[in-house]
Amino acid sequence: MDIKELKEKLTYNPKHVQTYIEVDEVKKADEFSEGYKAFLNVAKTEREAVVEAIKQAETAGFVPFEQDKKYVAGDRVYLNNRGKSVIFAVIGKKGCTEGVRIAAAHVDSPRLDLKPNPMYEDSEIAYLKTHYYGGIRKYQWPVIPLAMHGVIVKNDGTIVNICIGEKEGEPKFVISDLLPHLAAKQSERKLYDGIRGEELNVIIGSRPLDNSDESQLVKLNILNILFETYGITESDFLSAEIEMVPAYKADDVGFDRSLIGSYGHDDRVCAYPALKAILNIDIPEKTVLSILTDKEEVGSDGNTGLNSAYLKYFICDLAKAEGLDAWRVMSMSECLSADVNAAYDPTFCDVFDKLNASYLNKGVVITKYTGARGKSSTSDASAEFMGRVRSLLDKNNIVWQIGELGKVDEGGGGTVAKYIANLNIDVVDLGVPVLSMHSPYELISKLDIYMAYRAFYAFFAD
Ligand code: MN
Ligand code: MN
Repeated sequence: MDIKELKEKLTYNPKHVQTYIEVDEVKKADEFSEGYKAFLNVAKTEREAVVEAIKQAETAGFVPFEQDKKYVAGDRVYLNNRGKSVIFAVIGKKGCTEGVRIAAAHVDSPRLDLKPNPMYEDSEIAYLKTHYYGGIRKYQWPVIPLAMHGVIVKNDGTIVNICIGEKEGEPKFVISDLLPHLAAKQSERKLYDGIRGEELNVIIGSRPLDNSDESQLVKLNILNILFETYGITESDFLSAEIEMVPAYKADDVGFDRSLIGSYGHDDRVCAYPALKAILNIDIPEKTVLSILTDKEEVGSDGNTGLNSAYLKYFICDLAKAEGLDAWRVMSMSECLSADVNAAYDPTFCDVFDKLNASYLNKGVVITKYTGARGKSSTSDASAEFMGRVRSLLDKNNIVWQIGELGKVDEGGGGTVAKYIANLNIDVVDLGVPVLSMHSPYELISKLDIYMAYRAFYAFFAD
């Protein structure tokens, strides 16, 4: 054997996905990405993602889950958890007798939420005050067009859905920043402090209601527009969840169109393939679940996040209907925690360990553990489960790579993996590398998302 062959045989050296696949598969990845871009554009918030996912699932034969109903192999059901997270399930030939297979992604993304009493006027400009959600770099959010999404629950219980700034011709909203001419002092701030939380105030208007000499007429004019359009008053913001997100659409990036730029890849880039995998699966051996959850970006707490019992209760219901003990079902179950990792960025290479970073276009990334410092606050997947997952991927010719979130002690992060592991389920993170993660315009590779789809599908079909 010559040296080249020996190297190939003995060393781990992941390459560009295109090294391993045929042209027609590249084409399939591009086609898959078209559906993904459409999903991104209609599902910018967790609520919208749940609505769109259920819409697609119903077209594929999924119906609402009914407790205590006896299901048979091939039945397709979903559980809508408060409109902000959803579990899809396809009942397998063996039901839950040997555990279930889970893909768990999240559909919340970092953003700016409105405060409960957000509106004010200053110098005849009307503003909304925000409170950021998840890990954002605050300086990235001024001077980009923003859209307003969410719901308002009025005092009489009626729900008003809000989505302004997405359609052609609709107004946008924006946060201001200083001109460089007057930014000398601001420029001396540390970057994390470049724009402060209380400076993330969204401009929403600047004309007074009329020419009387009353005060606060710009704000009153906006309130009047809101009342006439939606029938809401200022106090209705208290019972609302309004999210400010970037107003632009997902687009191809690069002359070769190999990348997709968008808000909210984290974690729609895993949620969409996890959804598609369960929609496209026929009748699996074991019951399979795709979860699109909420609240991952704020630590998974809250009843729509995976630190709540909603997944556990769902598995309890499945088990009970089959006359099984839920803890036994969970103990035999397996999960791919479908979340992103940071793609290696050559411009900021200092923070990455090149040997253990994930790279754009090198396939779906398996992340054995996340966490911070000495693997604090993570589920470290076992060698056995890592072995099981890599051989599954290899068997199905799915291009994969390993990833670690930055150099040791450089920072860190977490996913839903540890909450699922705490149910005594085998779990590992598997997802797509993202460049500029958590920014208002993240980048992913079309080949990588397609490999993620094939991984979830293979896991369900296995
Ligand atoms: Mn994520
Ligand atoms: Mn994230």
